[in-house]
Amino acid sequence: MAKLEFTYGTMGSSKTAIALMKRFDLIESGFNVLLLKPTTDNRDGTAIIKSRIGISAEAKVNDKNESIIGKFLSEILDCDCIIVDEVQFSSKEQILQLKQIAEEFDRPVYTYGLRTDFKLNFFEGSEYLFKYADTINGVEKTCECGNEAIVNARYDDNGIVYEGDKIILGNNDKYKALCYTCYKKGRLHGKKRN
Ligand SMILES: [Zn+2]
Repeated sequence: MAKLEFTYGTMGSSKTAIALMKRFDLIESGFNVLLLKPTTDNRDGTAIIKSRIGISAEAKVNDKNESIIGKFLSEILDCDCIIVDEVQFSSKEQILQLKQIAEEFDRPVYTYGLRTDFKLNFFEGSEYLFKYADTINGVEKTCECGNEAIVNARYDDNGIVYEGDKIILGNNDKYKALCYTCYKKGRLHGKKRN
């Protein structure tokens, strides 16, 4: 059996860059890599995964209600390994399918995503990866105060927001990775340093 791996971090912790470098490394070593990305809207087809440091790659997308194995069976059989970015948006069933791909199809599955939302609640995909992944890695990100950032704080013009819907699409500029202390005290830095 192959392994299911989960690498988590906050927003801005270079997870996507690490995922794309992993893909590059595997391709350079001669492996056929299937790159997947769950989408929270109903787009079909492909999406460009782009990291802030400038590297990008084309991924196949699936929405939360689709079976990964059902939709990508031929691609799974053709590939040597699978990389999933933004894996937090996957459903429990999809994580179990990724586990099955590692176990029964014997393809290593490397997943990358956020651990928790802006209220420190698990994303469904991340929760089940903590239960089923063989290997779990954390990517460090430093809060502006120097502590390790663990919260993807959401904010608006009035400061940090502590309530609201789990997912608001296309608003990456309204999040900031903070340590727990800064999050609890409402310290956004840059905007309001204290
Ligand atoms: Zn801090």
